[in-house]
Amino acid sequence: MKKIIIAIDGHSATGKSSTAKVVASRLGYLYLDSGAMYRATTLYFLKHGVSLAHKADVLRALEEIHISFEPTAQGNTATFLNGKNVEEEIRSMEVSNYVSAVSALKEVRQAMVAQQRALGKQKGIVMDGRDIGSVVFPHAELKIFMTASARVRALRRQKELQEKGQSVSFEEILANVQERDHQDSTRSESPLLKVEDAIEIDNSELSFNKQVEKILQLALAKING
Ligand code: C5P
Repeated sequence: MKKIIIAIDGHSATGKSSTAKVVASRLGYLYLDSGAMYRATTLYFLKHGVSLAHKADVLRALEEIHISFEPTAQGNTATFLNGKNVEEEIRSMEVSNYVSAVSALKEVRQAMVAQQRALGKQKGIVMDGRDIGSVVFPHAELKIFMTASARVRALRRQKELQEKGQSVSFEEILANVQERDHQDSTRSESPLLKVEDAIEIDNSELSFNKQVEKILQLALAKING
């Protein structure tokens, strides 16, 4: 059967990752969370005090960073940074508050995009992020752009954090979501945008299952068409 590349871009906390994960598993495709790569890089920068203003330090650090995705005993996939499972740590507010500044750097984007393209070589992949349909895979057969109101997204993120035992105020999360929207959309390197051939899905009032079904239908039409 024909294999395609599915690019899912959109605003933060729109459920891109959960959706992409289910779509990939239903199609028997590989799933790749590009945001996790930027988050893991951010974690490394924070831990090693890498200054974003010093290009040489940034480049040296990028050479030291090895990110992989490995299956866990629970049947999930976790993000590994230099051999250590950092899946929990990369979702902290500290990382969330800094990741947009790190991912705005050209050097960081070049390193991540090269790895992402290598992973997509075989096709049969669902990748979510901000620039997948615009920069990483401009020839992806199916491009989705996901959005939802900032309040709905902040509520979802708060619930997610609560489930992990992290109590963060709604106001702080809303501010983070809005700040990341702003930074991601206005940066000069690969800003978040809806490309012309992407299909927009606003899921403020769309159930998770309906959204997955919609994307699967679109994917099957491309695969069989
Ligand atoms: O998808 P997630 O919200 O985990 O991404 C975290 C951050 O990583 C985003 O706010 C954005 O700054 C950055 N990112 C990016 N390009 C991507 C994926 C994520 O710049 N392809």
